[in-house]
Amino acid sequence: MEICYVLDASAFINGFQLESKNNFTVPEITSEIKDFESRLKFDAALDEGRLTIRDVPEKYIKSVEGIISKSGDVLRLSLPDKKLISLAYMMSDEGNDVKVISDDYTIQNTLKIMNIPYSGVITEGIKGVYNWKKVCEGCKKEYDDDYPFDDCEICGSKIFKKRIKVNE
Ligand SMILES: [Zn+2]
Repeated sequence: MEICYVLDASAFINGFQLESKNNFTVPEITSEIKDFESRLKFDAALDEGRLTIRDVPEKYIKSVEGIISKSGDVLRLSLPDKKLISLAYMMSDEGNDVKVISDDYTIQNTLKIMNIPYSGVITEGIKGVYNWKKVCEGCKKEYDDDYPFDDCEICGSKIFKKRIKVNE
């Protein structure tokens, strides 16, 4: 099943690449995207059918508020934030494979509590500022990112992913 991405305003502002047609957001997000470049990307994605705006029925927002009521985060979430989380919740409920894209720490934290997958744009290096390199923790041999095994072909030690800065 293809992943449905649920996009926060920060996904647009921080340059998330909308590669598939399975990108979704809520109406309230539009007012949060103010800078010209992000706005252009947002409008183009809408025009080209790569982005769908969906509203969320009140009952899903109420459910989300119920689930997170014990967390202090509920107070820090704005209405657009809450609706975005509710959209992800609703779409999982509909049987979709959902991933939220947001660099907002409060949103990420809430999603963690709700067991909904997420990733950030900046933190995941999608923007291209950072990249990953696979390195053997034993002999320090470097592997290409597509090396398919978890251990080193030379010494058999574990391979870990190291974050490297690309454009410098
Ligand atoms: Zn090795």
